[in-house]
Amino acid sequence: MDSKTTRVSGRYRMLRDGGADPHEWAYAWRRELNRGGFRAVDFLMEEIVESGKCVGCASCVTICPVDVFDYENERPIDTRTEACVRCVLCVEACPVLRPADRDLPEMLNLLSPAVNEGFGVYGYGVYARSTDPDWVARAQDGGLVSALLIHGLETDSLSGAVLGDVIPDQRQIGRPLLATTREEVLGAAGSRYTYSPNTLALLEAMQRDVKPIAVVGVPCQVDGVRLQQNSSISLSVAKWYRDNISLVIGLLCSESFTHESITKLGEMIDVEPSRIENINIKGKVVVRLDDGEIRTASLKQYQNFARPACLYCLDYGAENADISAGGVGLDDWTLTLVRTEAGHRALQSAIEDGWIETQPLETEPRGMFLFERLAAAKKKNRPLPAEMPTLAERESLGWLNPKTFYTKGPGAPATTEVETP
Ligand SMILES: Cc1cc2nc3c(=O)[nH]c(=O)nc-3n(C[C@H](O)[C@H](O)[C@H](O)COP(=O)(O)OP(=O)(O)OC[C@H]3O[C@@H](n4cnc5c(N)ncnc54)[C@H](O)[C@@H]3O)c2cc1C
Ligand code: SF4
Ligand code: SF4
Repeated sequence: MDSKTTRVSGRYRMLRDGGADPHEWAYAWRRELNRGGFRAVDFLMEEIVESGKCVGCASCVTICPVDVFDYENERPIDTRTEACVRCVLCVEACPVLRPADRDLPEMLNLLSPAVNEGFGVYGYGVYARSTDPDWVARAQDGGLVSALLIHGLETDSLSGAVLGDVIPDQRQIGRPLLATTREEVLGAAGSRYTYSPNTLALLEAMQRDVKPIAVVGVPCQVDGVRLQQNSSISLSVAKWYRDNISLVIGLLCSESFTHESITKLGEMIDVEPSRIENINIKGKVVVRLDDGEIRTASLKQYQNFARPACLYCLDYGAENADISAGGVGLDDWTLTLVRTEAGHRALQSAIEDGWIETQPLETEPRGMFLFERLAAAKKKNRPLPAEMPTLAERESLGWLNPKTFYTKGPGAPATTEVETP
């Protein structure tokens, strides 16, 4: 690190550790920017990536105007550091480095009147599903996400959608895709519970100028996109995302799982992992095999293979999405929260055209009960990610499980009896 970057690092740590308002942490680099800039990539790599706190959202990768980063094994790599033009966009857009700007809700154009029950402001919620039973069968829950995207593409309110595709011979591993057709969207329907860096496909959308686009992602990816769109640095990349991402659909997410988890799940249910066609988590792990047989496994046991990086994420409900979609409550319906005007327009227009049907949340009150509980569990006792121990520190404590670190593990309050891993 050069001396300017070291200065930023020192100031950042002083603000963070000295009890400054977390919204002030960004001044650590904004001040240096006003004095000619510093090599932000070095600061990001040391503070977030090398500390093992990176959640892999790829926001820094896709915002960089000079292509400094590659992306491998769920992490950015600073392959071309010398190219850094000191714009600081990467640190502006990292959801682990600092909390989202206070002015974000303004940019989001939230629906009013707004409901705030502790998992992100929303206007209303429904159970929703595609009116095409074949799409519901191919989807994870009610096929709301796929139906909204296809409706957008075929009524010209969207030209593309950034989402997570299936690798044909490794069906539980995702890869990014810029989808522009019904077939592509349906081919990618369903959930992979391993991490899929969907947002890497933003680069292709921008390069090909495919717009307007939707983005589908887990909450960390939604947060990264929103920080990109709301960056205080006015460069053309940030502007392109601000102007052309017109719909952000967030998937509820307690955690995602390591690639190794698929092998372990195979062992737990006694099948070859390649035979696993679909995984759904409904209080237990429900696995559909290639011949349609359903087997189940203990969620508690499977959670031992949760991705350690997911500790650094407190967002269950995709709080900054236009629409949040999850599978709690009614089977074969998608629990859908509409948060913004853009989300409301997309959903209502698909309902009016007969593509999507809905039921009130009261049909199955357990959906919102679980939503609230799971959202609270993901924040319980957790400080901001920047204040959490590094991955190496957690390794030395012998507790990598993100789910239990702050409830039963070394991070639990002193009054809680700490278990052994
Ligand atoms: C890692 C993960 C964890 C989740 N955890 C929960 C949870 O705790 N509680 C809950 O209620 N719901 C959870 N969900 C959401 C749920 O599985 C469904 O995605 C959601 O209900 C929408 O269903 P659908 O039928 O409308 O979507 P579909 O029409 O089937 O479309 C699903 C979309 O998700 C995208 N996708 C698939 N896998 C991934 C991935 N790994 N990362 C990013 N995008 C992907 C696909 O590209 C597709 O566009 C999770 C999803 C994922 C991917
Ligand atoms: S969390 Fe996202 S933005 Fe931050 S370093 Fe990792 S990939 Fe980049
Ligand atoms: S728990 Fe958070 S960090 Fe992990 S995949 Fe889900 S949204 Fe991303």
